Amino acid sequence: MGEGASIYNCALCDSYALVTLGILPERKLARGPNGLARYEDLLEAFQDARCVASALLLACPTCNALARATEEGASAKPGADQVEDGDFLRDGLAVLTPCFLVSFEDGQPPPVYVDENAAKGGIKPRYRLVQGVGPAGLELDRSRTGRLHKPSLRPFGIDVRPLSLDDDAAATRETMSEACLFAEALTSCAGGDAAASVVRRAGWVRGGDPPRPALERWGEIREATEREMDEDAREYVRARRVVGGLEYEARRARGHL
Ligand SMILES: [Zn+2]
Repeated sequence: MGEGASIYNCALCDSYALVTLGILPERKLARGPNGLARYEDLLEAFQDARCVASALLLACPTCNALARATEEGASAKPGADQVEDGDFLRDGLAVLTPCFLVSFEDGQPPPVYVDENAAKGGIKPRYRLVQGVGPAGLELDRSRTGRLHKPSLRPFGIDVRPLSLDDDAAATRETMSEACLFAEALTSCAGGDAAASVVRRAGWVRGGDPPRPALERWGEIREATEREMDEDAREYVRARRVVGGLEYEARRARGHL
């Protein structure tokens, strides 16, 4: 037994990381007559049920590193390993960005991985493919956030050009917060599937010529997304901005800012 994980791609910064999807069927089911076939059916059923095509709002390590770096005024380089052992998850301040599970072959669902070292405790994870079509093993980077070492995906047809942002920390912060709000509005009002099609049509994923991550060209994506949003999602954005503004004023009035 182990936890099944899939690779996701963040639509905002174009980084790749692992997300746990659930508990895999017991390996011991593969024993006995027809055991292996039954076990493989269960793995396939797990993949069919969990490896969805909709947009998932996840705490992408790179986007959280950027949000933290800019909030704290640090001069950290975008995409650097600034996420200290997942602190952003524990303190409840994570930003959630729209992400998609990654498939490596047209028409195939995203592959499922398991950490072979999970039961051993305290040692470096080692992910291997258990179901579907994809790289046999995965190389994590050193951030200990489940993020993959992007250059290791080059042989599998992944564009590995690094994120390139200018140094305006305030502009990056504004972009992050607005993009997260748009994504939240779309998924809250219309659900993951509808959000996924809006996000794709508006060019968050592999858009531009040459294709560049959404975070690098938020201006054009912002306009396209606003055109695609329905009135409910627009209203959601307006309402959240009012609440955000009131919270900001209240904190400032109490001397917290
Ligand atoms: Zn991201």
